[in-house]
Order: sequence, then C-alpha cells, then structure tokens
Amino acid sequence: MRQLIDCHIHTERCGHAVGAVDDYMREAARQGLWGIVFTEHLALSEDLDPEHELSMRACELEDYLVEVDFARERYPDIRVVAGLEADYLPDRLEATARELSRSRARSDGARMVLGSVHFIGGWTFDDPAHVDEWESHDIDQAWREYFELWCDAARCGLFDVMAHPDLVKKFGHRPAADPTELYREAAEAAAEGGVLVEVSTAGLRRPVGELYPGPDLLAAFHDAGVGATVGSDAHNPTEVGYHIPEAYDALRSVGYECVLFPDGAGGWRSLPL
Ligand SMILES: [Zn+2]
Ligand SMILES: [Zn+2]
Repeated sequence: MRQLIDCHIHTERCGHAVGAVDDYMREAARQGLWGIVFTEHLALSEDLDPEHELSMRACELEDYLVEVDFARERYPDIRVVAGLEADYLPDRLEATARELSRSRARSDGARMVLGSVHFIGGWTFDDPAHVDEWESHDIDQAWREYFELWCDAARCGLFDVMAHPDLVKKFGHRPAADPTELYREAAEAAAEGGVLVEVSTAGLRRPVGELYPGPDLLAAFHDAGVGATVGSDAHNPTEVGYHIPEAYDALRSVGYECVLFPDGAGGWRSLPL
C-alpha cells in the first residue's frame, strides 16, 4: 500500500479557507494518510492584505504553531509537520525573512517553507477576483514574467519547496510561444537554489484541469535532479488528500522513484511512489 502524504494544507486562519486544524486532521485520519504538512499563508503586510483575506495575521503565528503541535500529539498515527507558505515579493525579501525567522526561533517552528509566486508586480494573477485583468495582459509576457519571478524565488534562499510551479496556467491561459526554454530555466533555477518542487493537485480543481506542474515541466525537474513533494493546497477539509495518487502516478511517469516528506529535523524522508 502506498504511503500517502499531503504537504500543502491551509486553515481558516488565512481568511479564505474554512475549517480549523482539527477538521483537516479528522479527514486525514479518515483517509489513513501517512503524513501531513500544514502550510498556512505567512502574514502579508497590511498594505497588501488590509482585510486579512490572503494570509493569517502576524499575531496569529504562535497560536497556529501551537495548534499544529497539539494535532501532532492528538493523532500519533499521522506524521504532522508545521509549515508555512510564503509569497515571493522581490521588494520585500527582508520583511519575509524577518517573519520566517520568528517561526524558526521557536522549537515548534515551521519545518517546511513553501515559496509561491502569486503576484506579478501588484497583480494577483491567480485570484479569481482579478481574472478579468488577464484581458489587458499579453499571455506570453505574463508567462515570461511569472517564470522570471519563479526562478528568482527558487534561488533566493528563503524557501524549501516551490509550490504549484506553473500556477500561471490556472485559468487556462497558454502562451503562443513554446515554453520549453522557460521550463529548462525553471529546472536549472530549482537545482541551483537547492529547492524541491511540489506536484500540486489543486490544478485539477481549476479551469486548467491538470496538475501543477504539467508533464513537460515535471520531466524537466526530474532531469535536473530536483526532488519533489506533493500537496492538495486544501482550503477546505474536503480537499485533504485530493487526488494524491494521481500526483504519485505523474511523478512515476517521468522517472521519479520517490516522493519527499520533511523529517522534522531539516532533512527529508523518501517514500516510494
Ligand atoms: Zn490560499
Ligand atoms: Zn497554498
């Protein structure tokens, strides 16, 4: 039997998900998941998230970590790891590093940091509320800018795993130009930056209807020797473990033999696919 894991889970603390840690844990236990990583959105600054709809409040970090720690005791059959998802904001790297170090300073601090590109300039291109803005953007240029940011993020040293690598395709916008070169650059950046990549099943629930990353990009990561985790990006307890076996199959199909799970001590545990 496969040991199924889910390394990308949110809770109601971020303002756009429902359910508390325990609601997600109950579902993980029901499914018999082997391991789970909570990756709440690290607090964005007030100007970017004035209504706290995109991320948890900075003052909630401690309570969040304590809550995940409690779940670890309450569900001894599941490996429970605290993590965080942080946005790559090139002009705010210091603030992000500061916020992450608050977690790192704690004994129960996050053991895995997901890095995400959700902003191209000030545009939250993957937010359904801003999907209309795609009309005024050149798709090829948006893809180029997205991957440029993604490569910088992979190399910036703040993140352990790069989340949903080709999120730019979320609403089905595909470039006219062949993206092979962008994929090659992304794979090179991930290898150089020493980050893992996430195979995210969230794309299966979106208009694009496929995993992030797609097979060509995933193959490029494999060929560059980049390791992988898997995650559902659950924002509702019903999404825990969403189509994880499909992510395992995708990894196998491009040559991966294992998927990685944080061991809690700064390293990774390999699980066969
Ligand atoms: Zn979210
Ligand atoms: Zn997420």
